[in-house]
Amino acid sequence: MKIPEILNNSKKTLFSFELLPPLKGGSIKDIYDVIDPLMEFKPPYINVTYHQQEIVLKKLKNGLLQQKTVRKRPGTVAMAAAIKNKYKVELVPHLICGGFSKEETENALIDLNFLGINNILALRGDIQAGQKSFMKDDEGHNHALGLVNQISELNKGKYLDDELHNKQATDFSVGIAGYPEKHPEAPNMEMDIIYLKKKIEAGAEFIVTQMFFNNKKYFDFVKLCRENDINVPIIPGLKPISTESQLSILPRIFSIDIPKELTREIINCTDKKHIKEVGIEWAIKQSKELKNAGVPVIHYYTMGKSTNIQKIAEQVF
Ligand code: FAD
Repeated sequence: MKIPEILNNSKKTLFSFELLPPLKGGSIKDIYDVIDPLMEFKPPYINVTYHQQEIVLKKLKNGLLQQKTVRKRPGTVAMAAAIKNKYKVELVPHLICGGFSKEETENALIDLNFLGINNILALRGDIQAGQKSFMKDDEGHNHALGLVNQISELNKGKYLDDELHNKQATDFSVGIAGYPEKHPEAPNMEMDIIYLKKKIEAGAEFIVTQMFFNNKKYFDFVKLCRENDINVPIIPGLKPISTESQLSILPRIFSIDIPKELTREIINCTDKKHIKEVGIEWAIKQSKELKNAGVPVIHYYTMGKSTNIQKIAEQVF
């Protein structure tokens, strides 16, 4: 079932979460261990992130440094298919522009179509480690808009090679990212909204937001979207803070604010366990308010761990 359909058919706020593929060498069993305790909250779908290859420097025996390209977390498509098969839920694999030519994107879409996976979150992708700005593949897309357009074309049966015979149209529902506190590279919110709207006009049917710690930012963002005639579901994304270092890491990476009350509570914590508890309590408070406001679903960023998400879900769903 498509995500908009799932959301339309439900009268209550649903629970969902996002998983990362394991680091190379890891086991799918570790992923099942994260999912198992969360299944009692009946997620109708699960997201799986996509990770671009990175450039790393490897020290050789002679002391010289060798530059290598590695994909640290491969397996998004296979992991999505394995989870779908085991838990009988819908999957939303993320597809990114970074590292993909249009041809490779088309082939990944064909794989997903054959696997019966009909929902995709279409993203540009993070800036590659070691780079200052986003570098597209020579034959790839610069922005998520291009990726959304390509998927919409395939949904009309338009492949890159227009001389193909027996062309089958795909039937994907596409989601995109939204930024209640503005994308870090956008010059202002207005420009960000203009590009967000273009992606909706190109066929995107739902938005998942970047994490935020102050619900007002989400409510203001939804209002701004509606004023700009962006009327698709806007799914709030929440992440419980779990370490003190995240107070500086999260704003630096995502350009988001951490409210002063939350910062103060974390700084006053006596140990790591206490910090985790504060993060969980804050996320419970946020979740309850969002639920009362009637959001269709809450998307939790697990970062590969289920304990804190389980504690939140027990209080909210
Ligand atoms: P875009 O839509 O391309 O926007 C990027 C910037 O360019 C914005 O500032 C926008 O205003 C501007 N812009 C957009 N379109 C145009 C245009 N046509 N011309 C000029 N400017 C334009 N990253 C991963 O690598 N893997 C993941 O699995 C992943 N999952 C994510 C899930 C969620 C819910 C979110 C919120 C983010 C995720 N990211 C992931 C991070 C995401 O890839 C980054 O935030 C990235 O910097 C931007 O992605 P985007 O799809 O919003 O890009």
